[in-house]
Amino acid sequence: MHVLTGSKRRISLALTAAAATVTAIAAVPAHAAPAPSNERVVTVERAADGTLTETIYQVAPGFTGADLANNLRAKGASGVAVLSGEQASGEVVAAVAACSSGSARTWPSSATCFVRWSYNGAVRPVIDFVDHSGASWPVGRAVTEWNETSGIDSIYRPASSGCDGAPAHCVHVYSSNYGATGWTGSTSRTFNAANTYYASASVKLNDYYGGTEAQKWNTACHELGHVLGLDHNTGTESCLYSSRTSTKYPDADDYNLIERYY
Ligand SMILES: [Zn+2]
Repeated sequence: MHVLTGSKRRISLALTAAAATVTAIAAVPAHAAPAPSNERVVTVERAADGTLTETIYQVAPGFTGADLANNLRAKGASGVAVLSGEQASGEVVAAVAACSSGSARTWPSSATCFVRWSYNGAVRPVIDFVDHSGASWPVGRAVTEWNETSGIDSIYRPASSGCDGAPAHCVHVYSSNYGATGWTGSTSRTFNAANTYYASASVKLNDYYGGTEAQKWNTACHELGHVLGLDHNTGTESCLYSSRTSTKYPDADDYNLIERYY
């Protein structure tokens, strides 16, 4: 896959970079300052068996990270934290340089910079994104873009087709009107006991905030990037910027960071 798609990806990124810059500027309302670039709002739950589930949220337009955190606390969420890119949940992880490439960042755990998906005996890890979301969410197109990485396969599966099962990991993507939550999308991941591998993950896309096709594509791209192990990108040229923009694609740094680890 790498040999066949590497040049295609670079050309695609070059062509989209200029357009992405223009749309990102246009998408930020004059009255709403964007959230700090590497900020992330997370919640952490510990199950009875000791496993941890961490959820990360894309900040909705007009909200700050602090607003979102207050919303989550008011709704009874546990382990709410607003973190900078240098912090895992309550603990500082390995040197930031090891966890970044340009403006891209890995989504660390307390144990490691980069939380992995297992190969399950395959040549590369395989993620089946099973799409339960409404038709207005461009999940399939976002999956296609992420599949441009060489080290991990992202496969789109309509809900009617279900998941292939092992060696593929099944990641279910849902949409619903989750209400005025302060977030447009969220990704939850459950760790293995050592907090070094994903045991499972799932995605929610919030219909409440509506949005243009580009904005919804941005949210889908953003959450899928979290599933693959990335944290927020400090630049608005990437869909992994902390709050919603109209940027539909990962940037080259996002791809490079994933390819470093797989
Ligand atoms: Zn995010």
